[in-house]
Amino acid sequence: MEPVDRLNRPLRALRVSVTDRCNFRCPYCMPRERFGDDHAFLDRQAILSFEEIERLVRLFVALGVRKVRLTGGEPLLRRDLPELVRRLRAIPELRDIALTTNGALLPELARPLRVAGLDRVTVSLDALDPDRFAALSDSRLPVGRVLEGIATAGAAGFGPLKLNCVLQRGVNEDEILPLAAFARAHGHLLRFIEYMDVGSGQDWRMDRVVPAEEVARRLSEHWPLERVDSGHADCVAQHWRYRDGGGEVGLIASVTAPFCQGCDRARLSADGHLYACLFATEGLDLKGLLRGGATDATLSALLRSRWARRDDRYSELRTEATARQPKVEMFRLGG
Ligand code: SAM
Ligand code: SF4
Ligand code: SF4
Repeated sequence: MEPVDRLNRPLRALRVSVTDRCNFRCPYCMPRERFGDDHAFLDRQAILSFEEIERLVRLFVALGVRKVRLTGGEPLLRRDLPELVRRLRAIPELRDIALTTNGALLPELARPLRVAGLDRVTVSLDALDPDRFAALSDSRLPVGRVLEGIATAGAAGFGPLKLNCVLQRGVNEDEILPLAAFARAHGHLLRFIEYMDVGSGQDWRMDRVVPAEEVARRLSEHWPLERVDSGHADCVAQHWRYRDGGGEVGLIASVTAPFCQGCDRARLSADGHLYACLFATEGLDLKGLLRGGATDATLSALLRSRWARRDDRYSELRTEATARQPKVEMFRLGG
């Protein structure tokens, strides 16, 4: 029997962080003051090998996981990533292998990843304006690289892509319409995500969140929208359709309308810890067990019992006080 947690949620999706490193320093995720050039990221020995990731994914699949998303840090920085995709592709029950990336290395990697069997690509893009993009990514890689990556991924067969934009009040609200126009013109599915209090080093406040409802209103003023009843099992994004036939847009109200009830995701960090929630404060050290010689049966029993104990629903319980509590950084546990 496949396990369910204490809130009766099955385990269907796994996010795998393949590295804690990144070529960007987005202030809401990896602020440069704390993660500067002298920051000690995990060394090679500390991160799971592809063999170890594959073994764990097979165990998760046996418990019901059907979707894997590769993430990080920036997953495209992990050497030979297509090789990991090839290994995962060989797991028959795995229906969907996706990737979340900042897109800067897609010009080189989109095609090899497609050939290796990757199904889908999501690119994070918070701004189109070059100066705004530079400030929001705190990197020298220009927005043109990301746009080139998006085009290459589309041409490699990944289109239409999902584009994710995190909105912050007073920071990139004025990117809503340009990003929507870009996505409409290229046929991509743009999703606006509410800014969240992830990790511990950032200065999150409720008044910096742009509520999904407001985004829908602002978009509607330019391109009237209608809500799509997503009969399919995507409980994360609200789907809206442009009435003029310009495609769809997704709104992810992770703060103002949380969806913990439908949350069937576990997260595996680059250093082999299992986390039951994006806002977790501790994880289960699977790497130590793996390297200590644990059998598949032992590991599987442990995963099952850990999931059965899960009662996380942070976003439903969030307050200004919980927002200030330290949590594991998002780039560590797989955003
Ligand atoms: N580096 C890759 C990327 O940026 O797509 C993958 C990892 S990143 C942690 C995954 C996603 O988390 C990105 O879409 C990013 O915008 C989002 N993210 C990071 N910090 C966030 C925050 N404070 N609130 C909401 N989303 C956040
Ligand atoms: Fe890097 Fe992604 Fe975090 Fe930005 S959001 S710092 S690209 S891991
Ligand atoms: Fe899932 Fe935790 Fe996010 Fe709720 S807060 S949706 S339980 S990851």
